[in-house]
Amino acid sequence: MLAQCARCGKKVEKHRGYEHQGNLFCEDCYMDILSPLKACDPWAVHSAKTFLRGKDKLSTLTPLQLKIVSYIRGKGEATIEEMVENLNLAEEVFRREFAVLRHMEILRATKKGDKIFYILF
Ligand SMILES: [Zn+2]
Repeated sequence: MLAQCARCGKKVEKHRGYEHQGNLFCEDCYMDILSPLKACDPWAVHSAKTFLRGKDKLSTLTPLQLKIVSYIRGKGEATIEEMVENLNLAEEVFRREFAVLRHMEILRATKKGDKIFYILF
């Protein structure tokens, strides 16, 4: 049986949908609603949604996100410390952008020893 997501209107099978405050949502929307990061970061929601509409991933990035992705692509891997220094951005700015890029499956983090490296997805 098909139902409609109360947020994006996508058809979802009723037993696979998610109930929240009396409404039915598809998985994507439900995750968005639950995620505190995106709830307080309209830009993250926008970027992720633009990507989910199926456009080319990189064409939806902001100049700052592109700068981060190109830097990591050039180096293969990068630590947050070197990006803060070389890209001249604050650590919390990087973390926010990384959350978006991770959600878009462009970047991910990997642990080596006691260090975290950021690499392409
Ligand atoms: Zn939805």
